[in-house]
Amino acid sequence: MTAICLVGIGKIAVDQHVPSINASDDWELAATVSRAGTVDGVQAFTDFDQMLSERPDIGVVSLCLPPVPRYEYAAKAIAAGRHVMLEKPPGATLAEVYALADMAKAAGVTLFTTWHSRMAEGVAPAKAWLADKQITGAHISWKEDVRRWHPGQDWVFAPGGMGVFDPGSNALSIITEILPMPIHLRSADLLFPSNCDTPIAAQMQWTKNVTGDFDWRQEGPQSWDITVETTQGTLNLHDGGARLLIDGEKVIGGPRAEYPALYARMAELVASGTSEVDLSPMLHVADALTLGKRIVVDPFHF
Ligand code: NAP
Repeated sequence: MTAICLVGIGKIAVDQHVPSINASDDWELAATVSRAGTVDGVQAFTDFDQMLSERPDIGVVSLCLPPVPRYEYAAKAIAAGRHVMLEKPPGATLAEVYALADMAKAAGVTLFTTWHSRMAEGVAPAKAWLADKQITGAHISWKEDVRRWHPGQDWVFAPGGMGVFDPGSNALSIITEILPMPIHLRSADLLFPSNCDTPIAAQMQWTKNVTGDFDWRQEGPQSWDITVETTQGTLNLHDGGARLLIDGEKVIGGPRAEYPALYARMAELVASGTSEVDLSPMLHVADALTLGKRIVVDPFHF
């Protein structure tokens, strides 16, 4: 088993990373770094530099921090010869992640920009089914209640937090994976609460008749759905990619095991001495923030 350190013991670390590591034969959770969070029975550091110097046996670092602070940690880890796994979205800017990729290459370590939704059960079969189809259009409907899923996480509305594109990047990671052709943004309406620096909702129009509706104000039923129309039928992904239907018939659907798959992939990458760095989902977020029309809406408070 390979010793791994988890950094940023917050919601996603507790909900997904810790159980996935504990259930894996590849990994041993050897330390954590967090200012407040800890994991029972695991050595806890509050200072990252101290962990790097005191635990040279830990070769892999998994960063579960929000995107803005992540770069500094990743750069230090790579400089210290550690392999690095990044939560999504992989950074606060595209350029900083390209810089990390260059650093990882020069240092001979693995960098993995994870996109957990791509590991959802329906995504690979959806990609395979669409590979030889003629696409006539697609629609993303990604509507959830930010108060329910990100309670009190002020960073999502601060610069670099990306607002509704924090969950929206999950949809973008799926659409960029399954469509057999590239798309680019034509227009976007971005709804900014008057007291926030990031959008709470967005309507997007891409080339090839692809549209997206992202909203963090959704109360009641939540939707994480993608529909792709082709000349040979309609594909639907529901539940964030976990359930796949073609022409209304269920093809696949089961419990979500995205994070165990991410850690299995990281083990493969480290073993093969390779990196996986894909910024295509984040490219669409950056494009929305450069091309989008800013519309000011009611203030938001958790
Ligand atoms: P979170 O709970 O707010 O943050 C994770 C931890 O990071 C915090 O507990 C905090 O730990 C540390 N942290 C926060 N700000 C920091 C800063 N400025 N400097 C250093 N450490 C800081 O967030 P999360 O929901 O786990 O999300 C973290 C990442 O996972 C995000 O990129 C998010 O998109 C991704 N993600 C989240 C979910 C979800 O459902 N929440 C799902 C999938 C992916 P300490 O205070 O103890 O240092």
